[in-house]
Amino acid sequence: MSQLLLKPELVIGGEHRMSSDGSTFEVRNPATKELLANVPKGTSDDVKAAIDFAQSVYSNWSETPAPQRAEILYRVGEIIRKEQNELAEILTLEEGKAFPEALAEIVEGYDTVMYIAADGRRMWSYVSPSEQKDKACMVIRRPLGIVGVITPWNFPFSIPLWKIPPALIAGNTVVFKPASNTPLIAMKIVEIFERAGLPKGVLNFVTGPGSQVGEAMLNDKRLKMISFTGESITGHKIAEANAIFLRKQILELGGKNPIIVANDADLDVAVPAILYASYSNCGQKCTAGSRIIVEEKIHDKFVERFVKGADALAVGNGMNPGVQIGPLITEEARAKIEKYVDIGKKEGAKMLCGGSRYDDNERSKGHFFKPTVFVDAANDMRISQDEIFGPVACVIKARNVDEAIEIANDTRYGLSSAIYTRDLKNAFKSLSKIESGIGYVNQGTTGAEVHLPFGGVKDSGFGREAGEIAIENYTEKKAVFIDYSYERRPWYFGESG
Ligand code: NAD
Repeated sequence: MSQLLLKPELVIGGEHRMSSDGSTFEVRNPATKELLANVPKGTSDDVKAAIDFAQSVYSNWSETPAPQRAEILYRVGEIIRKEQNELAEILTLEEGKAFPEALAEIVEGYDTVMYIAADGRRMWSYVSPSEQKDKACMVIRRPLGIVGVITPWNFPFSIPLWKIPPALIAGNTVVFKPASNTPLIAMKIVEIFERAGLPKGVLNFVTGPGSQVGEAMLNDKRLKMISFTGESITGHKIAEANAIFLRKQILELGGKNPIIVANDADLDVAVPAILYASYSNCGQKCTAGSRIIVEEKIHDKFVERFVKGADALAVGNGMNPGVQIGPLITEEARAKIEKYVDIGKKEGAKMLCGGSRYDDNERSKGHFFKPTVFVDAANDMRISQDEIFGPVACVIKARNVDEAIEIANDTRYGLSSAIYTRDLKNAFKSLSKIESGIGYVNQGTTGAEVHLPFGGVKDSGFGREAGEIAIENYTEKKAVFIDYSYERRPWYFGESG
């Protein structure tokens, strides 16, 4: 893949162009720091123009029959499937994750598009009995209007595709702002929709900083919904801005996800799976298993095998065969991990592996960091409470599963959780008692499936995406009453509102 093939532009009303003031920002490969592209830095004027276009085509698009809208999505899915390797390569170059993981993300995007396309013929609602004779009652769905989509860099293909297809199939138009670390794969998404025949102006694309492009979107009341994924702190700001306009929102935010390892867990199964949950994508997953809460009796055996496994992970350029873990996204991200390694040591946790950069020729070129394990971590330490978002896992000892569940819940986050056990009682207890939007038994905290709802509680967010709820998110329900008696009704009938 030549970087010259990547030509990022704003897409506003179908026109590809640079930002209104001509400014740009750089995107670099995190594994090599090589320049991949100069990307337009959108302005508030660009955002306004994008929203103007989204508004001007809204009535045409929302009146297009949903099965016709679905045809475009099916074509999007076909293109993704056909070009999946090229797309995965761009994803690895730009985000750093190992190529097989990038490919899995592209396939997840394909799955979502195909799942949602079927809603073109399935956007059901319901009919209801009426209190009165000769009257029909039903609930119909209407689109919301213009939807703002703001996304993070760690799943820059699959997350926009959780949001854009359901917004479009429901008849909304979209303004899409990707994260500034990963605009190239986002641009490919927009190009694919264009090639699939999406009318101009239905999906508009503005790259640029959150403080500029994102805020200009939030400040425009013509956006009827913001569908956001990112850090909890940004989510709070977005919720405040949305409150001003009483705007609909989905907020998918951070996590500090617990994995309980019970005494009866099969370590042959648990250890490799927890290594994957903790370190894949270099720990840069909202669902990463970052607090591993281990029952006393099995603790030492688990730690010995887990540390050995973490030390043996293949870290390198994600394009190289056999690599399991790529680099961190930026130099700032690596500095943040180093800060937390220092904090963990000062707090009194014991670091058994990792904790530093690589100094060999290849890996010193990028933002690589060694998979790191802290043991003897107390749950109130910052390393156990803050979302570090890197290859750092904390092992916390618990007397029993009840105490492990208490520790699991002692956090501001509530996205994903898991337990390794062969005891059904422990499994169901953890599923019902742990405060999280997603729960696993004998699987790590990662591995969403697109037909099931995804999202968190507490500071991990608000609302769910994917699954059957996707259409709920992007439509309003309207209660409809049809009186076919053609008779004069008495006064005060059914007066309740
Ligand atoms: P971020 O919050 O820094 O940025 C997310 C997006 O918001 C970017 O496009 C950014 O430019 C934009 N933004 C930033 N400030 C803004 C503002 N003031 N107004 C409007 N937009 C603004 O997050 P990130 O670093 O890109 O992503 C990592 C975070 O995302 C982690 O916390 C991770 O847990 C979370 N995440 C959550 C999920 C989930 O589904 N719950 C999935 C992936 C990532």
